[in-house]
Amino acid sequence: MTNIANKKLTLAKRPVGDPQPDNWALETETIDGLAEGEVLVQTALLSIDPAMRGWMNESKSYIRPVKIGEVMRALAGGKVIESRNPRFTAGDYVTGAWGVQEYAKGTGDEWQKVDTKMAPLETYVGTLGLTGMTAYFGLLDVGKPQAGETVLISGAAGATGSMVGQIAKVKGCRVVGIAGGAEKCRYVVEELGFDACVDYKEGRLHAEIKKHCPEGIDIFFDNVGGEILNIALAHLRLKARVIICGAISQYNNTTAPEGPANYLSLLVNRARMEGFVVLDYASRYAEAGAEMAQWMMQGKIKGKNHIVSGTVEDFPETLMMLFRGENFGKLMLKLD
Ligand code: NAP
Repeated sequence: MTNIANKKLTLAKRPVGDPQPDNWALETETIDGLAEGEVLVQTALLSIDPAMRGWMNESKSYIRPVKIGEVMRALAGGKVIESRNPRFTAGDYVTGAWGVQEYAKGTGDEWQKVDTKMAPLETYVGTLGLTGMTAYFGLLDVGKPQAGETVLISGAAGATGSMVGQIAKVKGCRVVGIAGGAEKCRYVVEELGFDACVDYKEGRLHAEIKKHCPEGIDIFFDNVGGEILNIALAHLRLKARVIICGAISQYNNTTAPEGPANYLSLLVNRARMEGFVVLDYASRYAEAGAEMAQWMMQGKIKGKNHIVSGTVEDFPETLMMLFRGENFGKLMLKLD
């Protein structure tokens, strides 16, 4: 094998507030041969996730922080270009969490082979990857939706929210989304089949939730946190479930996250608010993936990917698109 120059993006400095250009360092290393049992993958797609902002912090979380000087953690998809591991052959496509770099060398123990004849690589990174798993287990395992119930979803036009709403429709629920802007709301209703969508940027969230959920909400699937969570709590029905998937509105705060003043609605309505981490469901991904794939083939759900083309150097700007609400569906960076 000839030597390969691998460009990678490392964490140079922890951010305070919005990530800035000086939080990152671009480095080049030479990969010069594989040991017995190793595989070399060329990155094709990087999954861009709000959680990345949390991984940049020093603080304790469900996963250890990315260390200073370490390659930024990222879920990725790519092609095996060389293998000294019997599990992989050059030409195989794989997904794994090898980070923001052009190539990755490893034993592949935690990488999954995927069949790109069945579905394109982006589907394995998005709908059938952790995004789909998050929607599936968050809604079905934590929320336990029943047909006829009303499900409200924040971040409805995003990767997770758009899948949650479609799965809730499969389960016979009435589904109302919350998204930023008329175009996103139109997309959520007309293309994804939600029953209604509220544009939170119009500033009438209380009244609009009341209008679209006149009996209140049975499940609130929250991707956003902050004031949206607070307002949603005021509309709970008896025995409602509030699923804390994420709180993107709080991730760049320089002060403590904003807590919901309306939390006593949980008491009044004998409701439950529960957080979850998709990684806890790893042993059941195959089961969920099979069911999601079937729904896709039956046309019951569709994955929308927002793919930006660029290089690893474009990662910082692409990440910021999430916080500016510039993505429709699952955001990925496709390496040129
Ligand atoms: P996403 O929804 O595709 O993208 C983020 C969206 O959030 C943006 O498009 C934007 O949509 C919205 N947003 C950004 N800043 C906002 C603000 N200040 N107020 C309101 N909305 C804002 O991202 P995703 O990958 O699906 O992730 C969604 C959430 O799930 C995140 O909170 C993430 O951390 C969480 N998550 C949790 C798990 C878990 O295991 N618990 C796993 C994966 C993801 P608008 O244009 O509509 O504002």
